[in-house]
Order: sequence, then structure tokens, then C-alpha cells
Amino acid sequence: MASTTYDMIVIGAGPGGYVAAIRGAQLGLKVAIVEREHMGGICLNWGCIPTKAMLRSSEVFHLMHRAKEFGLSAEGIGYDLDAVVKRSRGVAKQLSGGVAHLMKKNKVTVVMGAATLPAKGKVSVKTDKGTEELTAKHIILATGARARELPGLEADGDLVWTYKHALVPPRMPKKLLVIGSGAIGIEFASFYNTLGSETTVVEVMDRILPVEDAEISAFAKKAFTKQKMKIMEKAMVKQLDRGKGKVTAHIEVGGKVEKHEFDTVISAVGIVGNVEGLGLEALGVKIDRTHVVTDEYCRTGVEGLYAIGDIAGAPWLAHKASHEGVMVAELIAGGHPHPVKPESIAGCTYCHPQVASVGLTEAKAKDAGYSVKVGRFPFIGNGKAIALGEAEGMVKTVFDAKTGELLGAHMIGAEVTELIQGYVVGRQLETTEEDLMNTVFPHPTLSEMMHESVLDAYDRVIHI
Ligand SMILES: Cc1cc2nc3c(=O)[nH]c(=O)nc-3n(C[C@H](O)[C@H](O)[C@H](O)COP(=O)(O)OP(=O)(O)OC[C@H]3O[C@@H](n4cnc5c(N)ncnc54)[C@H](O)[C@@H]3O)c2cc1C
Repeated sequence: MASTTYDMIVIGAGPGGYVAAIRGAQLGLKVAIVEREHMGGICLNWGCIPTKAMLRSSEVFHLMHRAKEFGLSAEGIGYDLDAVVKRSRGVAKQLSGGVAHLMKKNKVTVVMGAATLPAKGKVSVKTDKGTEELTAKHIILATGARARELPGLEADGDLVWTYKHALVPPRMPKKLLVIGSGAIGIEFASFYNTLGSETTVVEVMDRILPVEDAEISAFAKKAFTKQKMKIMEKAMVKQLDRGKGKVTAHIEVGGKVEKHEFDTVISAVGIVGNVEGLGLEALGVKIDRTHVVTDEYCRTGVEGLYAIGDIAGAPWLAHKASHEGVMVAELIAGGHPHPVKPESIAGCTYCHPQVASVGLTEAKAKDAGYSVKVGRFPFIGNGKAIALGEAEGMVKTVFDAKTGELLGAHMIGAEVTELIQGYVVGRQLETTEEDLMNTVFPHPTLSEMMHESVLDAYDRVIHI
């Protein structure tokens, strides 16, 4: 019979948990991972990956409509929503299966079932066959998060959806309300709007994509409005009256409540950590607004217990979860890893046009007391963007005027989610304006705009 004592047990097989398990195994630890539902977590099954598969369909659909611009012809352009969803589910399944394969390859024991922590160093797993008791000196909590539900705006799967329903929609919405304009809300708004839903986005803050630089939010608003999306800012959905096949939304805007009718609502008002039912309170784990409180090394304060990824708080991103997983596994194996720097984690939104950023916005840099130098470069000034037929967008860079440190970079436009990594590497290497200006960027590429934006910050821009 297999031993139930491990060096490290990971609870949750999302991008935080499974990556931690692999790194632990690489370092010679005996590792088990417990998962109650699906290998790959939200990211692979209901988050990052299936949304990108859906968005790819809407992107191709959009391009097909532009065929003429490229000297091509395409007639009878349409879509089959079931087929779009089937492709997305297939991509998710393929990757989830890939994670199972990686566990096997790395000799990580997988225990399928729901875990609880009955005592320090102990994990109890309810499996199909009964309860398995496991022990380990080190336990990593990576149980992730789920959609936040606001009272009165709860999802019902029919008229009101969470991201899960929106990924396997029962129908194509005709009139869609998206509540919340963070990355998840905007990605779904972009997908459904492109496929023809009459889409309204309601955002309580004074601008959409509120964590982004204000100029990027404004640019995005203009681009979405051009695509006939309706954007309501400083607006709050107070109530949803659900009728037969329709929802009447009471939306407070400018001090007045307006009533608008929709046939579908997607609620994207944030997420809450999966902290319940694990036994965390009894162990003395501190929880702050549904997230486990940790130090910079993801330690919970309870000896041998760590929390990574979404359960440990913002930013709620897969790459943050994975990086924390690697860091904690290395710590457990006796290494001396660097803590993850939240300010160097890029955020990407895969709407059309895409949005990506890293570091401080211009406003935040100023609030932090920096005197800044700001550069901007528009896509219209870039040869590759024009050749691609993607001349809408901009790249903005923010530098510390005193030291030349790259404080932040903010982009909107085609493929910026791929480009941003250039600046992320720059920040990791503590780059300055000098290094970036001396870097030779290949031509013709969209990346040249990154160079030009830096040059612009120092009044040396060439192509505008
Ligand atoms: C629609 C959507 C789109 C997204 N797009 C992106 C994107 O483009 N880029 C990006 O970086 N991030 C994106 N995210 C966020 C990303 O999915 C999360 O940040 C990431 O999945 C967090 O990883 P995690 O390992 O912390 O948790 P999760 O991926 O949530 O995994 C946690 C796992 O733990 C399991 N679990 C929970 N409790 C227990 C228990 N008691 N016992 C056993 N198992 C348990 C769950 O079943 C789950 O599989 C998106 C999220 C959503 C919802």
C-alpha cells in the first residue's frame, strides 16, 4: 500500500498547485496533490484557457468580416455557437489532460477528492472510496477562488450568468448586460459583442478597466463604443427583476435609477477565495475578506502551512499563482528564493483591442511621489501595425525622471498581451531608459513601438 506520508502536500491542482507540485518533485521532494474537481483548476478549465479559445473564434469572425480590406472575399459568414463552445471545451480538456500527464511524469501522487486540514501537518481527503488521511511537514493551500455573488444579482444559470455559464452558454444573448468591467467582464463583453449581442457594460468606478492607466481606459472606451458597445460608468446595478426570458435591470447613474431590459446578464463583480470548509480557522490561519493572509514568502503564520495563488489574494492571475508555487516549493526544499514582486506582474485582458500593463500607472507613480517622464507611441505610426491592418492602439511608458527606472508600461492594441513581456523582463533586470534606448528592436515588428515609446519619453521619438 502506498505510503500516506509526504514531504509536501498541495491542495488544489490549479496553476498554483500543480506547478508547485512539479517544482517540489524536481527538487527531490515526495509530493502529493489533492484535487476535488479537475486538474488545471479554474485557469485551464473555466478561466484563462477556454476564454481565450472563445475569443479566438470571435477574433477570426471579426477578421472574416474585414476580408475585403485584405483583398479577400468571404461570403455567408456566420457562426455556430455550439461549435465555438465545443472547441473551447476541447482545448480546456486537452490541457487538463496534459496536467495529469505532467503529474505522472514527475511522480507526483494525485489524490482526487475534497481536502480538509484536521490538524497541523494533516490532510484528510474525501474520495469516492472513502477518506484518506495524509501527513506532511509542509502543506500548500492552493484552493483558488470562485465568482463573487452580490445579493440580488446572484446567478441562476438561465438569465443571470457567472463566467462558468458564459463559457457554456445555453443561447446567444440578444441584449446582454455585463456587470463589472474588470478583465473577466470585458473579455466576455468583447466576445459576445463581436458575435452580435447588443452589449451594455456597467461599471461602478469612474472608468472601465479601472486598474489600468486612465489613458488606456479612455482609449478602450472609445474603441468599444466604436464597436457599438454601450458603456455606463459611475453606474451601479441596484436590482434585477427576473421575468420570463427577460431581466429588468435597475441601474443607478447620475443620481437617478434607470430601468433597462436585457435577456441575459453576466455578473463579473470579482471573486472570493475558497477558504471555507478547510478547517483553517481552527488552525489559527488569518483570513481577511475571504483571502488567507500571508507574508511575502506565502507563509500563513501556521508552521509548515503556505497559501499561494488566488486564495492568497490579488493579483488574481494564473502566472502569479504559478510563480508563488515555484517560490514556495523551493523554500520548502531548503532553497533561498526571492519573494514574488507584485509590482512586476503583468496584467493582460484579451478583449479586442487587447490591453496589457505592468508596474505603476502614471497617476499611481505621481501619487507615490515620483516625478515622471512619460512616453507614448500610437499604433498608427508603426509599419507592422499598418501592414497587419491593426492601426488602433498605443504604448505608454512611465519613467522615474530622476533615475530613469522604468516604473510602468501600459498598452492597448493588437497582440500587446504578447508584447508586454519585453517590459516585464526589463523591469526584472532593473532596466533604465538608457538600456531600453540602446536596445535594437527588429523591424518590422509591433515591438518597435515599445522602443519608440521610450524614445518619446526622452524627446527622441523617430516616427511621429
Ligand atoms: C473567466 C476567467 C478568465 C481568466 N483569465 C485569466 C487570464 O487570461 N490570465 C490569468 O492570468 N488569469 C486569468 N484568470 C484567473 C486565473 O484563472 C486564476 O488566477 C488562477 O486559476 C488561480 O490559480 P490557483 O491555482 O490559485 O487556483 P485555481 O485555478 O482556482 O485552482 C484551485 C483548485 O483547487 C481545487 N480545490 C478547491 N478547494 C479544494 C479542496 N478543499 N480540496 C481539493 N481541491 C480543492 C479546485 O477544484 C481547483 O481546481 C481568469 C479567471 C476567470 C474566472
